[in-house]
Amino acid sequence: MPSKPVIGVLALQGDFAAHGRALERAGAQPREVRTAADLTPLDGLIIPGGESTSMLKLIDLEHLFQPLREFGSQRPIFGTCAGAILMAKEVLHPEQASLGLMDLTVERNAYGRQIDSRIASIPVAGESEPVEAVFIRAPIIRRTGGEVRILATYQDDPVLVSEGLHMAATFHPELTPDARIHTHFVNTVRKRYTEGVPVEPRQEHQTE
Ligand code: GLN
Repeated sequence: MPSKPVIGVLALQGDFAAHGRALERAGAQPREVRTAADLTPLDGLIIPGGESTSMLKLIDLEHLFQPLREFGSQRPIFGTCAGAILMAKEVLHPEQASLGLMDLTVERNAYGRQIDSRIASIPVAGESEPVEAVFIRAPIIRRTGGEVRILATYQDDPVLVSEGLHMAATFHPELTPDARIHTHFVNTVRKRYTEGVPVEPRQEHQTE
């Protein structure tokens, strides 16, 4: 791997351009991904926020479902908001297909219509200062499997989690100038190369 890991951003729909800029701030080389061939040179991938049903339709149209699952069996993926929905094993409200790469049950649009978007300051594991988390029609992670590590919570629900190679956030870390969450993912990608798989030892539940 070159000194700057090459990290793709799925660019079919949603908030991919802002992720590219955030990856640059975090010391990675971003690449937009639209086809299975685009996955080949990547060290890791971000699946951005947007609208998960539309994103799924486009993934099907581009024959990307299986290639993404295979990519995720070897290399790190970070799913944010709609991307977190796609990463989950189980999706509710309504049920829909997903890549099933993380042992999570996720409920879509779970904060309700009146207060569906907000900004909250949240403590994150390993960070001394809180992170501004932007939630936009966010899902709620209703269940985490035994190997899932909870890195941050908001109102007692997990909002930033990791499992093996992968990460998921129910908020939008690309929408603030703070690069710490992307840096965490870039470090995960680097560790994948220096230490092999899995990148994270199993740890006890921890939120700060
Ligand atoms: N509500 C969207 C969905 O269910 C996700 C919103 C987002 O990515 N900001 O797909």
